[in-house]
Amino acid sequence: MVIIGSGFAGIGMAIKLKEAGYHDFVILEKADDLGGTWRDNTYPGCACDVPSHMYSYSFDLNPDWSRMFSPQEEIWEYMRTCVDKYRIAPHIRYGKRVVSLEWDDAARRWEVATDDGATLTTNAVISGIGALHVPSFPDIPGRESFAGPAFHSSEWDHSVELAGKRVAVIGTGASAIQFVPQIAPEAAHLTVFQRTPPWIHPKPDFALTSRMKQALRLPGAARAVRGAVYWALETRALGFTVDPRLMKVHERIALKHLRSQVPDPELRRALTPDYTIGCKRLLLSSDYYPTLTRDDVSLVTGGAAEIREHAVVDSTGREHEADVIVFGTGFRVTDMLKDQRIIGRNGLKIQDAWQDGIETYYGITTSGFPNLFFLLGPNTGLGHHSVVFMIEAQVRYVMSCLRLLSRTQARAVDVRPERQRAFNRRLQERLDPLVWNAGGCRSWYLDEHGANRTIWPGFTFEYWARTRKVKPDAYELIY
Ligand code: NAP
Repeated sequence: MVIIGSGFAGIGMAIKLKEAGYHDFVILEKADDLGGTWRDNTYPGCACDVPSHMYSYSFDLNPDWSRMFSPQEEIWEYMRTCVDKYRIAPHIRYGKRVVSLEWDDAARRWEVATDDGATLTTNAVISGIGALHVPSFPDIPGRESFAGPAFHSSEWDHSVELAGKRVAVIGTGASAIQFVPQIAPEAAHLTVFQRTPPWIHPKPDFALTSRMKQALRLPGAARAVRGAVYWALETRALGFTVDPRLMKVHERIALKHLRSQVPDPELRRALTPDYTIGCKRLLLSSDYYPTLTRDDVSLVTGGAAEIREHAVVDSTGREHEADVIVFGTGFRVTDMLKDQRIIGRNGLKIQDAWQDGIETYYGITTSGFPNLFFLLGPNTGLGHHSVVFMIEAQVRYVMSCLRLLSRTQARAVDVRPERQRAFNRRLQERLDPLVWNAGGCRSWYLDEHGANRTIWPGFTFEYWARTRKVKPDAYELIY
């Protein structure tokens, strides 16, 4: 078996395969280290905005998290510890970027090609490539003409000295609100280009004392904390998945937060979103707003219209001089999957299979591509909870498919197209009235046609229950 990617998804899959007695698998990793997004994102202040006791594997609770919301290095370290503990390292092949997957109808196997010219054949491929790793650079005219260093938040150039520099930040999403407070004290001046203001809640973060950590070692304690965090986060799904009007309470919390941290009414107005909270990812930060009130930080609304050799021009035509530009402009998500060279049964290209939009069955399998399993595939992202929980549900589903194969002696499973279509019809109907689609914003959750291809529209326990066991009648078995 081949797993692609050594992030939370790939490692989690590998651990469960080993546990079930499958040892004949490799993890192909494009980089020279493991960790996925937690390896790539090293920007100052990078941390998780989901509590660590929930943003970790349920089967490997860590009583030693230093904070409620742990920093990137610690999450990365946790992943390494898991790789050591479960002896996953011998399975990882570094520097192997998968460039093509091709199903061989006669042999009933996948051919997996990597960019070093090597080819592997395997009976199943599990893609754990994640959604947020292809940086999205904005189409701002003149971007190439900038004379100074310019880099994306996920490719932070630590060799660039920001001290004493005029820094322009483009974007005000989940990443930017974490690094802006960190770099502001260093830069001579920081100009933040905001196109759409995000909704922000206070971040209930705190350091966990050694006494708390000791308490977490007591039998059942770490599990109980995880349970409490799980249900606390799940209550937020009510507004997201049941009725957007329930988001009002979250809106009130966010507006109070803004009022308490930004005394200047004009700045406050510029920072007040005009769409329903939750339509874009709800952000957590207690130090972003105070940073914007500093004398050496300015907020420019309306986004960036042009980039010149030494400046960024705003939408009114005013030039803001800059020595360095940081793009906090997010990732290519819905179009990224479509770029891959994946060829399934009877030469079916994934681009043709998905010409009307990315469609899978529970985000895991897609018709015409037998034994190809996605982890964190389409419509399994969340706006309110930990995606590690979703990964674990998907890993269990893949294991269930593998058990089905060994029970029936079939070579492959291929989801029936009518089941996939019915699933997606219901999914899109459910998403239609919800906040991500109807909240009056444009986000990376939606594809170029405005269809939501990223979010799971229900409670996480619903997803968990529905993916607990594969339904054999949803699949064609290939012998
Ligand atoms: P993002 O949330 O997609 O934000 C991108 C920002 O760039 C937005 O403010 C966007 O403005 C702006 N932008 C994009 N194109 C632009 C253009 N042409 N001109 C001006 N502004 C432009 O990206 P991100 O902050 O990297 O976060 C992406 C996702 O990563 C998050 O939603 C989250 O799921 C994940 N993340 C998680 C954590 C965590 O703690 N767990 C931390 C960071 C990121 P508009 O809003 O107007 O489009």
